Amino acid sequence: MPAPIRAYLPDLLVAGGAVHEGAALSVLGGEVVAVGEPAPGAERVRLAGKAILPGLVSAHGHSFQRAIRGRTQLRHPGRSDFWSWREAMYRAAARLEPDDVFAVARMAFHEAACAGITTVGEFHYLVGDPAGHPYDDPDRLAREVIRAAREVGLRIVLLRAAYARGGAGVPPSPEQLRFVDGSAGEVVASALRLSRITAADPAVTVGLAPHSVRACPAGWIEELAAEARHRRWPLHVHVAEQPAEVAHCRAEHGVTPVELLARTGALGPGTTAVHAIHLERSDVEALGRSRTTVCACPTTERDLGDGVVPADELLRAGAGLALGSDSMVQVDLLEEARALEGNLRLLRRERGVLSPAGEAGTDALAARLLGFATQGGMASLGLPGGALEVGDPADFASFDLADPSIAGASAHDLRATVIFSAARTAVRDVVVAGEPVLQDGAPPRGRPAAAEVVADFGRVMRKLRGG
Ligand SMILES: [Zn+2]
Repeated sequence: MPAPIRAYLPDLLVAGGAVHEGAALSVLGGEVVAVGEPAPGAERVRLAGKAILPGLVSAHGHSFQRAIRGRTQLRHPGRSDFWSWREAMYRAAARLEPDDVFAVARMAFHEAACAGITTVGEFHYLVGDPAGHPYDDPDRLAREVIRAAREVGLRIVLLRAAYARGGAGVPPSPEQLRFVDGSAGEVVASALRLSRITAADPAVTVGLAPHSVRACPAGWIEELAAEARHRRWPLHVHVAEQPAEVAHCRAEHGVTPVELLARTGALGPGTTAVHAIHLERSDVEALGRSRTTVCACPTTERDLGDGVVPADELLRAGAGLALGSDSMVQVDLLEEARALEGNLRLLRRERGVLSPAGEAGTDALAARLLGFATQGGMASLGLPGGALEVGDPADFASFDLADPSIAGASAHDLRATVIFSAARTAVRDVVVAGEPVLQDGAPPRGRPAAAEVVADFGRVMRKLRGG
């Protein structure tokens, strides 16, 4: 029997960069096959009172950090900042067994689905057991994270991180031991093993991720960048999140982190620099010139007191933009998009900071921000699509036009209303590669029930709290 063609018929459809009224989105074999009239013979799925938007993409996150939400919001006697937060994160990371990693990741991904996220980039650096020894299957924890994403139904790009040391001349601390590999070659070998999953499940792909210029020596970065280019895998790296990281890089290498990435051949259209906050003018130019993507994670960056990504300057220089949930303090890509613009409004003391030049339409700014949250993320992860054009993966979310947060929206202002005001309660249906992930707000039959996901996560939290 041939696979059914489905034609989704919402009131409003955001596809191909435009908002359509009364148009159908036809899907076959996990791809968009038509926008407009329903494809001939298609099974019609009427979504009355709903709008379909491209699925949101969280290009950068660490799912296990969902386990420390709510447990780090305190003032320390000394200084509370990224570094004090990191101690709490390490303590939790040190206690997670494989079943726990699965349960916490599944919680994070279920929450992501409920927020209209269809693809996650998982920057994965939990490698060994709590003592730092490899599991019998050296990719055990990465496979648990992948399994969690696929049970929920999300597309996942496992960005296999490389971690060598605590810092320049500093061996890894006991808490960092389980992040560490023996060589860049071991990291590549692990990514290669994981990449074989793609043959059976195309919604799982891989990339490489030197953790940072602090955690990786220059030689590792150079080797991983060359491998990523050779294999056409995405390369992700944390860059200039904290001033101390920049200072240490200058002390070790005599250059900024961005300059070190340039020197090691790590910049380019296949690379994503995560954060990129504390930049020199020359760093902005280098990121732009090389068409590197910057992944901003504004809810994490404000939570940790990191600073503001100069997205306006980066875009003018030619860099790409993507967004990520990072530390899981919130899992809400629309909030990331509005915070990217909102933080710059506070800093520059004007509105519409990221508006595209020469475009004054009501939702030109929102269309651009939505692009960062969709196409920008897909490009960062080495994936096609994100705009629901013909040939794109059929990854999308529906929004209830009667939700109090977006009621009254029209084709004219839909994107601006959703980007700046939608609450997560508005997300009703989520589809990845043509397969249902949420139906009217809940996982469909065949996927784990929300109550099961929450209960299993609760077990891990009791363990972490219980000593
Ligand atoms: Zn991160």
